[in-house]
Amino acid sequence: MISTSFLLKTFVFLLLWTNFLFSTVCLAQDLTYAKEVIRNLCDESMKGRGYVENGDKSAAAYIATEFEKAGLKKYSKTYFQHFTTPVNSFPGEMTLFINGKKLKPGEDFLIDPGSPGISGKFSVVSFNADDLLKNEVWISKMKSAASKFIIVEAFDKTKYNSEQVKQLNEIISFLKYSKENPAQGTIIMTTDKLTWSGSTELYSTPSFMVKLESATEEIKSIEVSAENKFLKNHQTQNVIGYIEGTNKDSLLVFTAHYDHLGMMGKETMFPGANDNASGVSMLLNLVKHYAAQKPKYTMVFIAFAAEEIGLVGSTYFTEHPVFPLKKIKFLINFDLAGTGDDGIQVVNGKVYQQKFDQISKLNEEGMLLKQVKIRGEACNSDHCMFHSKGVPCFFIYTLGGIQAYHDIYDRPETLPLTEYEDYFTLLVKFIQTL
Ligand SMILES: [Zn+2]
Repeated sequence: MISTSFLLKTFVFLLLWTNFLFSTVCLAQDLTYAKEVIRNLCDESMKGRGYVENGDKSAAAYIATEFEKAGLKKYSKTYFQHFTTPVNSFPGEMTLFINGKKLKPGEDFLIDPGSPGISGKFSVVSFNADDLLKNEVWISKMKSAASKFIIVEAFDKTKYNSEQVKQLNEIISFLKYSKENPAQGTIIMTTDKLTWSGSTELYSTPSFMVKLESATEEIKSIEVSAENKFLKNHQTQNVIGYIEGTNKDSLLVFTAHYDHLGMMGKETMFPGANDNASGVSMLLNLVKHYAAQKPKYTMVFIAFAAEEIGLVGSTYFTEHPVFPLKKIKFLINFDLAGTGDDGIQVVNGKVYQQKFDQISKLNEEGMLLKQVKIRGEACNSDHCMFHSKGVPCFFIYTLGGIQAYHDIYDRPETLPLTEYEDYFTLLVKFIQTL
């Protein structure tokens, strides 16, 4: 005969075990789904979710399909909130030869995102930092560069004081963007990591950043062929869906931008795995998690467009909200959710200290992430537009791991997703307290 206490123990053990199995399986599914979402959003067909071959549209369509599968409700006939924006794009040729050597786009050089196209072979006028610090020298050199390219040689920042570095940066900006520079274009040599971005503006002459180690000899000539297409009224879209809660008057809003930098020429894609396919995967994992239940508060999920070109999608949304912003109880924005080796950073943690203490406590209790780091305000992602309108919000991003950022190396294959499951667990626990 089996003692009742043994039976009870077995029962409790089984319960714990199934619970454990269940939660492990759930988490494993979250990670599997995250990988699938990231792979899809970084697929070649998505063109880096920018403005070449409507990469942004393909990504939005994919997210809408996932919303549909989960049964999210719509605020209009579709999940899309359309708007237009100017944006520069590089759909075609992108070649640069220095002294006859062909450089690799993305790896050896970047075109400035606001550049017009250009094609031809040019001689050069070189400027070093000391030239740039003497107005009469660089101005007269610049005037002599009318049919040529200006080369700004790399300089050691540690050799100049902060005032001089500031001055150097201002003159470099002038050379790159001013109509008064008569040169055909500018090449800035640099020892910094190449970090690309996007532009809603178009400047009068092209400029390039070139890694010093890609062209160490004295530059005598360059040959360039770069095609741009400036889209004055590009139509793009935010993707919005929601789950109706018991309480419809208070909303919990979750956001993540889905756009990235797109293509730099027809062959060079910026996949944006961490930035921000990972954040969208977190958003979609929350969609899946909450779609199965009726939450206490209505939950809104927004995948924003055009963040990288200046928070354009979230600006449009906050100016044309589909519900009164006052109804938002709390908003969490996800960007860069793919590492976590050093924990997470909570922007606005200092503004909403109690909420920060809550998430920090939950993290310690659950022994989840290495650290939950506090930060004050920072207008560095889509939460900013809400924060400036008084909507209580956090922006959370993961820390540590791979350092790829706004470059061709931000790829799904190397995105570690180290703490993805614990991060998701922490979020679900925290959302419960909101
Ligand atoms: Zn981002």
